[in-house]
Amino acid sequence: LGPTVCVGEIIVEIMATTPGDGFRQPQPLIGPFPSGAPLIFISQCGRMGGQAAMIGAVGADDFGALNLDRLRGDGVDTSAIAVDPELPTGSAFVRYRADGSRDFVFNIVHSAAGRFGWSDAVAALVGRAGHLHVMGSALSMPSACRVIERAAGLIKARGGSISVDPNLRKELALGAAAEAVFARLVGMADLLLPSGKELFRAAGMSPRAATEAEAVASLLERGVSEVVIKRGADGASACDATGAVHAAAFAVEEIDPTGAGDCFGGAYLTCRRLGMGVEQALTYACAAGARNVSIRGPAEGAGTRAELDAFIAAMGRAA
Ligand code: ATP
Repeated sequence: LGPTVCVGEIIVEIMATTPGDGFRQPQPLIGPFPSGAPLIFISQCGRMGGQAAMIGAVGADDFGALNLDRLRGDGVDTSAIAVDPELPTGSAFVRYRADGSRDFVFNIVHSAAGRFGWSDAVAALVGRAGHLHVMGSALSMPSACRVIERAAGLIKARGGSISVDPNLRKELALGAAAEAVFARLVGMADLLLPSGKELFRAAGMSPRAATEAEAVASLLERGVSEVVIKRGADGASACDATGAVHAAAFAVEEIDPTGAGDCFGGAYLTCRRLGMGVEQALTYACAAGARNVSIRGPAEGAGTRAELDAFIAAMGRAA
């Protein structure tokens, strides 16, 4: 089947270079870096050697060109990315706090990233896509939410598959309509890639009332084939009807945690679509997440297959 498609925000990220509390004072910044969870994910798919394509929009400005160059350089099909003549490319400013949490200032909903719709180019891409990856963050934009739901129905009806990363952000809350779309997409998903509390949210259960195993079982009963739980520096676990496989994280110094889950997901899905088994895919995915956190910038550490092979070998493990 055809390419993996991801729909959503294509933005630049500008980072504070010192940890602290928000942006209320002038301070040194670094960037712009290509960003947006869907962009990081699909970039990792392309670098890993999978067929990859993206749906979204950028402005007719340098930030847009930076992102299009990046995606094309990674082998990602950009034919369904619109260039909005009126609105600028979206942006996110991020600053880390001493405890590792992040403060964001987003300009997404009122940027080019927030108002793309269904077009002939989108229809043509969806018509040949084999897989749709859904990022929960994209559901915070009503236009993207509509495109995602329509694409999901078409791709699934043709025998394609769907993965969902809940990817919750406190600054990108979902309204009631988007929550309902999220629940429907979880119901259609073949692969779910939650981290932490997102597992329970996807299962519609409270972490106080249910165990992790109960939440996973409930999702598998509802038709999800695989649930892959991301555990940060504790690695990851892949669960299906036959049981669970755990992979340890690679020990790295965490320079910039943004994008770890997106690179993990892009590598895992691509490996599985290329025919690899769960254990090998988990190894590449943990390597992709670890490599990305060890390099500053949201997607600067997304590795090619050769880079991940070298990373895994340098860590004394086998791919
Ligand atoms: P984000 O939303 O920040 O992109 P996430 O919460 O979706 O991240 P994480 O669990 O933080 O996802 O990271 C995904 C994977 O990347 C982990 O399962 C792990 O394999 C790897 N990883 C993340 N952080 C580290 C770390 N500090 N050291 C080693 N590996 C890491």
